[in-house]
Amino acid sequence: MRKRQIVKIDEELCTGCGECVLPCAEGAIQIIDGKARVVREELCDGAGFCIGVCPEGALSIEVREAPDFDESAAKKASRSRDEKGERFIRQSCYLCSSDETEAPLLPVRHKGESRWVCTRCLPRLIHG
Ligand code: SF4
Repeated sequence: MRKRQIVKIDEELCTGCGECVLPCAEGAIQIIDGKARVVREELCDGAGFCIGVCPEGALSIEVREAPDFDESAAKKASRSRDEKGERFIRQSCYLCSSDETEAPLLPVRHKGESRWVCTRCLPRLIHG
């Protein structure tokens, strides 16, 4: 194992609400005994797009030893969730609140935050 970015869950803050489970496209997070857990570290790509959905601030990204991200297993898990109809969570632009039915959304990392921004607001983000 080598060190890499991966999601960290603060058990003290986690209420087990489950809001983070579906936004994890790869299915790396599940609720076990009332708390969110990373059940398969190889499915977490460390992108951090689950962070913004946690109402308690219990999710963050840390660097620690973990199995390498397994893209093939993550795609398989993602397809499986699609087939079960479990995966679609509507996201919205953090600048204008347009959702993905109104404009394409792109993931961005900025000042340690993982956010979604729509293509209409992207120029404003780039040029200020
Ligand atoms: S969204 Fe936050 S509080 Fe809710 S289960 Fe996930 S980590 Fe816990």
